[in-house]
Amino acid sequence: IEFLLLLAVLATLTVEGLFILRPAVEKFKQADKLKNEFISIASHQLRTPLTSIKWVAERMLKKESLSEKGREQTSDIMTSMKELSSLVDLLLNVSRLNTGKINTKPESIELVSWVKSLIDECAPICDKRNLKISFHHSAEFVRAKTDKGALRNIAQAILSNAMEYTSAGGKIEVMLKSVPQRFVLTIRDNGVGIPKKEQNQFLFQKFHRASNAEKMKPGGTGLGLYIAKQATELLGGKIWFESEEGKGSIFYVELPLESKEIKGQKLLS
Ligand code: ADP
Repeated sequence: IEFLLLLAVLATLTVEGLFILRPAVEKFKQADKLKNEFISIASHQLRTPLTSIKWVAERMLKKESLSEKGREQTSDIMTSMKELSSLVDLLLNVSRLNTGKINTKPESIELVSWVKSLIDECAPICDKRNLKISFHHSAEFVRAKTDKGALRNIAQAILSNAMEYTSAGGKIEVMLKSVPQRFVLTIRDNGVGIPKKEQNQFLFQKFHRASNAEKMKPGGTGLGLYIAKQATELLGGKIWFESEEGKGSIFYVELPLESKEIKGQKLLS
């Protein structure tokens, strides 16, 4: 009888629990839907005026009659516009991923030169922040068939984090290794690292940031790793990391040498 009573109490609690929890879950789903809609509208609406301002600033910079001061100020506008454009691109990609209708178009890429050119793009930031960046590869050429936009999103997110969370004088090492049917891209830094208790899969979710990163760079979005993980999975690969607070982090991305094409509606930009 006691057992039956216990069962009855448990059943009542579960039913009540469901009644209490269901509206909360619905509310949460609704809030998430609204957030996704907001991201989609904001990113699409921001794109057009941004393009116009960038176009005008570019035209102004081409004017010979522009004074020294005017040139300096217009260059500042261009720098801020570039930052804003990358943020809008990030939001646009999140909104594309939210709809779940991403397209991938694998094409042949020689990875060694591709990674080299990505590293060259980072050189100005590394120089400015006094960071040393190096590249090691296991073979002279590594050819893969993959989606360039998705791969760029993955590599850029990890590389920009390595630069962001490493203090001046630090070191970033990029490694490319090919294994049968797959290749592994590794990015190691000797930066601030991630606190042990915050090292979990949540970091790959939207808007999640570790406490030390929030202090170091209050303006971060917490979207880079989310996009990197989604893009990695679209290409049929996996992404993970190891980190020690105060010592540095190492991010690994393992991808197939040949990714399957996905027929969706939008490519990752
Ligand atoms: P953001 O850099 O804008 O915060 P991300 O999604 O790219 O967003 O990264 C999520 C979080 O993962 C960061 O806020 C930071 O806490 C942690 N993280 C990622 N890469 C590194 C790294 N190389 N070193 C230290 N922390 C990192």
